[in-house]
Amino acid sequence: MKPIYKVNLASIKDSSGSRMEIRDQITLSNLEWEGERLLKFDNPWWIELEVTNVARGFQVQGKTGGSYQLDCDRCLEQVQLSLETEFNDLFLPESVSKQEEEAKSFTGDEMDLSATIMEAIILQIPLKVLCTPTCRGLCSVCGTNLNNATCNCETESFDPRLAMLLKWKQDEGGGDDGQS
Ligand SMILES: [Zn+2]
Ligand SMILES: [Zn+2]
Repeated sequence: MKPIYKVNLASIKDSSGSRMEIRDQITLSNLEWEGERLLKFDNPWWIELEVTNVARGFQVQGKTGGSYQLDCDRCLEQVQLSLETEFNDLFLPESVSKQEEEAKSFTGDEMDLSATIMEAIILQIPLKVLCTPTCRGLCSVCGTNLNNATCNCETESFDPRLAMLLKWKQDEGGGDDGQS
């Protein structure tokens, strides 16, 4: 995958304690979201970060934000959302980082922030996305969007007593639904 953001460390790599601040924009690729939905980012997103040389590596602290679209859990209409999220990661030279699970690694003068950024974003995406809190969803039989229309399917009543009553009527041979 194409890196989302790379930082060139050349200007601070030689002196411990030195820092650099960056404000920039990033472009995010769409993601497959659970339930075969698509997470679409409205690019670009803004990013602000501070990289500090902490002698044994680099500490990266920052924020990113922007808007995105995700399908409603119930009716699959696209919902427009936005978020802002923070990150804070320690980057160590590759040879050292393997011993520290929490740390990320860099090689040479370049630090790839893709994983840091995506982790921060994904953790802020709500598990449930609804177009409105009262979304009526899709009919499970015919697929009609019940926010915009009604259908004649009879599955909406999940009252088990009704189902039992219907079955009882059928077994009795009563009713003139005439399903032959
Ligand atoms: Zn909906
Ligand atoms: Zn229906």
